[in-house]
Amino acid sequence: MTRIRRLDPETRKEIAAGEVITRPVDAVRELVENSLDADASHIEVAVDGDGTDLVRVRDDGHGMRREDAPLAVERHTTSKLTGPGDIERVSTLGFRGEALPSIAHVADLTVTTNDGGPRGTRVRVRDGAVETETAGRARGTTVEVRDLFHNRPARRKHLGSAKAEFARVSKLLSRYALCHSDTRFSLSHDGRETFSTPGSGDTDALLGVYDRTVAGQSTTFSFAADGSDGGEGNETRVDGVLCYPSVTRATRDHVHVAVNGRPLVDESLRRAVVAGYGSLLPRGRAPVAVVRVTLPPESVDHNVHPAKAEVAFRDDSVYARVEQGVRDALSTADLRRSGDVAM
Ligand code: ADP
Ligand code: MG
Repeated sequence: MTRIRRLDPETRKEIAAGEVITRPVDAVRELVENSLDADASHIEVAVDGDGTDLVRVRDDGHGMRREDAPLAVERHTTSKLTGPGDIERVSTLGFRGEALPSIAHVADLTVTTNDGGPRGTRVRVRDGAVETETAGRARGTTVEVRDLFHNRPARRKHLGSAKAEFARVSKLLSRYALCHSDTRFSLSHDGRETFSTPGSGDTDALLGVYDRTVAGQSTTFSFAADGSDGGEGNETRVDGVLCYPSVTRATRDHVHVAVNGRPLVDESLRRAVVAGYGSLLPRGRAPVAVVRVTLPPESVDHNVHPAKAEVAFRDDSVYARVEQGVRDALSTADLRRSGDVAM
C-alpha cells in the first residue's frame, strides 16, 4: 500500500477533468474501482431505492491508514500516482484523486476503513465538514453514500425511476463481476440480493450473472496476441469466455469487453469479437462473451474520456488480433457439446 499524496499541479493539468457523478451508478463505478485497486477479493454493493437514498460498497481490500483516511476525501489526493509522467504508466483503475471528493460534494459520505491494525477509522463528510473518529472494523473499507444530490435538485429530477436507476447499477456491476471473475461480487437492492458471483473464475461468474444455460454452453480461452511466448510481462494477452453460438442475444450488449481490468463500452472491440464468430451466428444475433485485453499500460490511454469509458490503443491491430483469436478459440471448442448449434 502506498501513501496518499496530493498531486502536483503539473499532473493535475494532465488529467482529463470531468464532472463524474451525474447518477448513482457513477458513484458505484468509482467505489467499486477503488475496491479493486485495493486488491479486494470480496466486494458487496447495496443500493436502496434509486440510489440517492443509499449506495454502500464494502470491501476486504488493504484499507487505509488512520492518517490517510481524511486525505482520501480531499481533492487531487491519490496513492496511485507519484509524479509527472506516471499517468502514462498507470495500471490502477483510479488515478485522478477526484472520486471521493466529487461524491462528498453532492452527498453525505462516510468512509470506514482499517488497514489491518487493531482499530479502524471513520471519516464522515457532510456539507464540507470532515469528522474523523475511531471505529471498529475488520481490514477493508466500507463507503456509504447517503442523500445523493440533496444539494443538486436539477440532477435529482433528471434521474429515472428506482427500477431504471438500479438497472444501470446492475448492468455495471455485472460487467465488473464478469471481467474480474476471480473477485467475489454481490449486489442487493432494498436489502434483497439480486446476484452474486463466487470469485472462482469465468464459468462460475457467467452462472452468477446469467444462468445455467449460458454458463453450460461456454468455453474459456487465453492467448498471447502479439506472437510472444508470454512470461515477459510485456506482451498483449487476450482471455475470457465465449458462449457457443447456440446462446445468442439480440444486441451486442452482452459482449463484455475489458482493457487492463476496466470494462468498456467500446463498440470497435465488441465488433471484433462478433466478427470472430463470423457465420456461426444466426443473422442479426450477437453472442454472450467476456473478452479481456491485457497489455502494457503505456500501450493504452485511459485518460481520453472523463468517465474512462473509452480507450485509445497506440496500436490498432489489437482489433484484428482479437477477431482472429476468437475465431481460433471457437474452431477448437467442441461446439457440438451444446447440442443445438444454429448454423
Ligand atoms: P483515486 O482512486 O483516483 O486515487 P479516489 O478519490 O477514488 O481517487 O480515492 C482517493 C484515495 O483513497 C485512493 O488513492 C486510495 O488511496 C484511497 N481509497 C479510496 N477507496 C479505497 C478503498 N476502497 N480501499 C483502500 N483505499 C481506498
Ligand atoms: Mg478512485
